[in-house]
Order: sequence, then C-alpha cells, then structure tokens
Amino acid sequence: MYEGNVMQAMVLNKIKTQLDWTMLPDRQPGAGQVRVKVAACGVCRTDLHVVDGELAHPHVPIIPGHEIVGRIDAIGPGVEGLTMGERVGIPWLGHTCGTCIYCQMQRENLCDHPIFTGYMRDGGFATSTIADARFAFPLGEAGSDVSMAPLLCAGLIGWRSLGIAGDGKRLGLYGFGAAAHIVAQVARWQGRSVFGFTRPGDVDTQAFARSLGASWAGGSDEMPPEPLDAAIIFAPVGDLVPLALKAVRKGGRVVCAGIHMSDIPRFSYSLLWEERALLSVANLTRQDGIDFLRQAPAMGIVMETKIYPLEKANQALSDLRAGRFHGAAVLVP
Ligand SMILES: [Zn+2]
Ligand SMILES: [Zn+2]
Repeated sequence: MYEGNVMQAMVLNKIKTQLDWTMLPDRQPGAGQVRVKVAACGVCRTDLHVVDGELAHPHVPIIPGHEIVGRIDAIGPGVEGLTMGERVGIPWLGHTCGTCIYCQMQRENLCDHPIFTGYMRDGGFATSTIADARFAFPLGEAGSDVSMAPLLCAGLIGWRSLGIAGDGKRLGLYGFGAAAHIVAQVARWQGRSVFGFTRPGDVDTQAFARSLGASWAGGSDEMPPEPLDAAIIFAPVGDLVPLALKAVRKGGRVVCAGIHMSDIPRFSYSLLWEERALLSVANLTRQDGIDFLRQAPAMGIVMETKIYPLEKANQALSDLRAGRFHGAAVLVP
C-alpha cells in the first residue's frame, strides 16, 4: 500500500494483453496542467488499436482512454481560466507543440510533436488523470457525465469528418458504431439525409440506424437507393473504400475517419474518376472541440450508452471488438 492518496487505473502493461487493475500513488499536476477526478470515460475503437499495438508508436505501460469527463481537483502553476470543481472534457489530442508548420497554419491536428491522451500520455481508464489545461474543454453542467463522454472522441472526430465530407445532403455512413450513431443525429439536425451501411445481414444494426433517423439502411455490399453526395467510413475495413467510392456521385467525397484501417484492395481508376475525392481525417483541433461542444446541446443528441464499472474495462473492450452493443461503451469509476 502507498502512503497518502492513491488512484486506481486499468493499465496496459504489454501489447495484446488484458488491462491490469492497478493501484498507483496520486499524481500532482505540473505547470500548465490540471488533475481531473474522472467521472466517466468512453471506450473508443482507437483504444482497441492501442491495446493491439496497431498504432505507429506503441507505448507501454499506458492507461488508455481519451473520452474523459471529470472535475478539476488540483490545478498546477500557471493555469488560467479553469477553476476547482469545474467539469471538463479531455479528448484524444492532449498537447501540441505550437511551433511546427502545422500548428502555425491552424492545423494543429497534424502537429509534428503531438501528445495523444491514452496512447502517449496516461488517459481516463482511471479514477484520476492529469491533462494539459489548454486541452481541457469546459463542459458546463448540462447533460450527464456518461452521455457527454462519447462526444469527446466519437462526437468530435465525427464532427470533423462531417465538415470534411462537405455540405452534400445525402450522406452515407459505413460502420454504425459509436461515432456514426452520433454523426447520424448531427447530420439529421443539419437537415441532411443519412444512409447507414452495416455488415451485410446485420439487420439489428440496420434497424438501429433507422431508429436514429437514417432514411435507408442496408449492408455495405448494397448500393443506396440514390447516389450519395459523400460517405464517411468509420469501420476500420479497407474493403469499404471501393464500395463507398462506387456509392458516391460524380464529384462526391469519401472520408476515412479511423486512425487505422486494413489494407485497401486494388480498385479500378473509374471509381475515382470524375472528381470523386478520397480523404482521411486525423485527430482534431481545439477549435473543432469548441465549435462542436458549444453547439452539441442544441442538437438533441440521444446518446445510446452501455455503462461498465472501471474494473470491467476488459469486458467493455471485448464487447466493442465483438460488436455486442449499440452506441458507445462508457466506463464509470
Ligand atoms: Zn505542432
Ligand atoms: Zn477515439
């Protein structure tokens, strides 16, 4: 046992193994940092990529989790604009350098020297976490901690993807997990029509997509009833790229929203011809967070969540991997 205060965390000690329930000494925020008592932390597909060692710079031991909602319980020197007890959200982008060309051109999502929460710095699968104060978004008091957590990644990356997909009215969503279930509702709020694509034969998830306002839902091997203006691919499946290109009209966009994807198969140039565009979305900027979180309360997003106690993080990850729930999993300490 440790003297003084302690925190509990689910720690990944070795790639491709279970997280370990661990007691650690409480941490103190450094200059420019805050300590946050975690109230809820969403479970994201990227956490699976971290556990599986599929990202470029696997780093262990690490506490995963980058959809953190909690309250500030210690403030380091030099922090301005945040107060003790304030509710904040901590996203995937945990730090940027501020000096590289990408930071200087307002594209800090592409920063050359970023720190990502729950991947390069300990995240929110814990009772407490340390964050860079500049990357802690004040959340106000509207909405429950659990329902806010998935906004911090699924919502934010979805929001950025939606912007990059353009203004087209007919939007296809491939892979109907946590992000798509939020984006479908945001797109409906924006007045777009949503077309949901799931694994072929997954009628259950297709019904879920329709319940969130999709005007059509079917298998990823099907063509939508009308050509799409844009499609966003959330599933980490490269085979979906040519299928989505086939489903969009001339000049349409296909946006890959995941951080990792299996190889894209060879496809005929005719699928890309006629100014169809294939793009990826990486991370987020603080401005994305400010824009999205300011408008989110008005969007009427109904969050479908499955709540797990923190110590059941392994169960949550395996249920996510197997697709055993709809919407988003959220850990509660
Ligand atoms: Zn930078
Ligand atoms: Zn994420």
